[in-house]
Amino acid sequence: MNGKPLRAWAQIDLTALRSNVSALKAKAPTAAFMAVVKADAYGHGMVPCAKAAVEAGATWLGTATPEEALALRKAGLTARTLCWLWTPGGPWRECVEADIDVTVSGLWALREVTAAAEEAGRTARVQLKIDAGLGRNGAQPEQWPELTAQARAAEEAGLIKVTGVWAHFSCADEPGHPSIERELTVFRQALAVAEAAGLEPEVRHIANSPGTLTLPEAHFDLVRPGVAMYGISPVPQIGSPAEFGLRPVMTVAGRLASVKRVPGGHGVSYGHQYVTPGETTLALVPLGYADGVPRHASGTGPVLVAGKWRTVAGRVAMDQFVVDLGGDAAEPGDEAVLFGPGDGGEPTAEDWARACGTIAYEIVTRIGGRVPRVYVGDTGGRTRSDDDGAACPRA
Ligand SMILES: *Cc1c(COP(=O)(O)O)cnc(C)c1O
Repeated sequence: MNGKPLRAWAQIDLTALRSNVSALKAKAPTAAFMAVVKADAYGHGMVPCAKAAVEAGATWLGTATPEEALALRKAGLTARTLCWLWTPGGPWRECVEADIDVTVSGLWALREVTAAAEEAGRTARVQLKIDAGLGRNGAQPEQWPELTAQARAAEEAGLIKVTGVWAHFSCADEPGHPSIERELTVFRQALAVAEAAGLEPEVRHIANSPGTLTLPEAHFDLVRPGVAMYGISPVPQIGSPAEFGLRPVMTVAGRLASVKRVPGGHGVSYGHQYVTPGETTLALVPLGYADGVPRHASGTGPVLVAGKWRTVAGRVAMDQFVVDLGGDAAEPGDEAVLFGPGDGGEPTAEDWARACGTIAYEIVTRIGGRVPRVYVGDTGGRTRSDDDGAACPRA
């Protein structure tokens, strides 16, 4: 340990993550819990978050890509794991051999997975996906009878076992939206068709975070929360994280790289979109769009520096941005907190989302690989994503 302070970091509170899993499980007490850890656990770090979720009672892990699912296995995670975003020629055989449940949305995928099962000499665990109305992946209802019949034939041939049937909501984050009932109806019909084809799925599931929190009738056998597990409200118009018993897991901060007095009329950052209104102090935050700070935060993103919310002054650059401290004092090395749980006076990811015209999902997920993740509340083993031995930032 060389104890060098970090330039910037994303602190990941695994105690909060475990507590969020417990809170969500309490909302869906009869359903199994699939922790969705795709996209590097929404930027929080896939393996440490998956481990913490399993410790808190998740019995399934969910990823978008097969490569993510395989990475979980490689890291030693043995929980049931489902992945859903396949393209032709994907690593079907590797997933079958790693006991990963794979999603099939069409006949091409069923052909590829049965061929892989035959080659591997093992039964593939397959979950069939219906498009209940999202218009993204999943079989269209017209193709469903044929897909389920062929899946049943592959079961009879010993090549696959259909372990699940599932769908994904389009507008679960808008409670009362008419699509919700429509999609539940399509899903129930699809389940009936699957049953009539002779399939006996172990898990039927449709609920993402908003479905888990606001639609008990959509819990079925398993819920698949992602963003809520990271302590972000999927329905901020209805409730804050605290109102749902959730706590944000990620805090992004950095240390000021420069603090200096400048005269009035001084342009700030590329394009001089901001010009100092009078003599003032400018502080330089060493995080930019290469680190995932949206360029759309130019002139609008909130940052806690020297005890107050400041606003990004001028444009966010690739590696850095500036805040105007007005008459306030600060020193190089002082902390600038972009977002966190909010109870230390800092903005939240939701505040950044509003400032940038996006959703908090994107704010946390886009935090880049140059920002080291610093894990707190880990119950064992390694506590850092990088191995340079630097000290943890101030607790
Ligand atoms: C991302 C994703 C989830 C989790 O969604 P949240 O809104 O983050 O809870 C669940 N299911 C599928 C298929 C997904 O792609």
